[in-house]
Amino acid sequence: MKAVVSLNSGSSSIKFALFTLDDEGAPVLSAGGKIEGIGIAPRLVARSVDGSVVLDRDWAGGVGLGHAALLEDLFGWAGGHLEGYEVLAIGHRVVHGGTDFAAPRRVDDALLAALETLCPLAPLHQPHNLAAIRAIAALRPDLPQIACFDTAFHHDRPELATRLAIPRELHAQGIRRYGFHGLSYEYIARRLAEIDPETAKGRVIAAHLGNGASLCAMRGGRSVDTTMGFTALDGLMMGTRCGSIDPGVVLHLQTQMGMSAAEVEQMLYRKSGLLGVSGVSSDMRALSESASPDAEEAIALFVWRAAREAGALIACIEGLDGLVFTAGIGENHAAVRARICARLAWAGIEIDADANARNAERISTPGSRIAVYVIPTDEERMIALHTLNVVKAAA
Ligand code: ADP
Repeated sequence: MKAVVSLNSGSSSIKFALFTLDDEGAPVLSAGGKIEGIGIAPRLVARSVDGSVVLDRDWAGGVGLGHAALLEDLFGWAGGHLEGYEVLAIGHRVVHGGTDFAAPRRVDDALLAALETLCPLAPLHQPHNLAAIRAIAALRPDLPQIACFDTAFHHDRPELATRLAIPRELHAQGIRRYGFHGLSYEYIARRLAEIDPETAKGRVIAAHLGNGASLCAMRGGRSVDTTMGFTALDGLMMGTRCGSIDPGVVLHLQTQMGMSAAEVEQMLYRKSGLLGVSGVSSDMRALSESASPDAEEAIALFVWRAAREAGALIACIEGLDGLVFTAGIGENHAAVRARICARLAWAGIEIDADANARNAERISTPGSRIAVYVIPTDEERMIALHTLNVVKAAA
């Protein structure tokens, strides 16, 4: 009996999923969960497939516990949960694969060193992704670890979509638009092909709206363009990130207002977006419950920007057949979905208010020219599938 483990390690949380393999070798979720509050008050909650909590642990004095110590604990529990199973490999979400890594691959020292050089391009994510790989290598040096890149799904986009309008030689040096959330979009493309194969063959925008947020325009399930670019800072307004910004602002902050590069980075990544505009919270749910007019303005701007970017992507794929909402806001926040769709009514989107309020799978009316879906993403399953493929190919 065999198993694989998926890890998605972020700055303050680690998501994990344990999959056993069925007779055909397909991954079947056995348990999954999250360690949250790393650095403040870590708490590990794991659930079995039926949703029941199988582990709920916090740590007295956990403020000083880093990713490595928490992963060791998680590993101890996972070992017990998967007793009798051979764990074939651990798959990791790695946010940035740069220009060189377009497909999942087994981690070795050379790959780790190459991925390390990309940390400045994804400072919120990449260092934590790599820290988890290192922590597990120290615990179980023999266990294969597979890196699955968020940039990979966008790798084969038209060359034009990868270019920034800056001097040519910089493109050759890797200063180009990569795109992120690729594991999520790949999963959504596969799932849409099961739910509505006709629409999946056409022109679709997937909206991954979570703390990080982006849109991806696809044709036939392949990425054509996406709102994130060189870094995961570009595009939509996010929880704490600004999204697209006039680069003149960045220059002004530094040359006229005396901010250091580190201060600007901190501001754009951690103090902007919903948090910066509302002054209340980075969390969409908290904003919708707030009476502050600034919170309402932050939501309105989030919606405005999402609709604006969707309009731009509709031009890139020359029309639209389907729209899919996913991630924390996309899957759960009916009012935000309704407001974005209302701004896209001109494109032929009509929402069934009742279906939308229920977070139903299909939320467009039967007469809507564009089919609109809510599909929960599953990056962990995508990681498990890629991990198994790499293990099989190596066998
Ligand atoms: P991450 O990018 O960190 O994985 P998530 O996909 O979990 O983020 O999305 C977090 C966002 O989703 C937050 O803004 C949160 O308010 C929102 N969200 C999560 N659950 C709900 C819900 N039930 N209703 C409304 N918004 C929600």
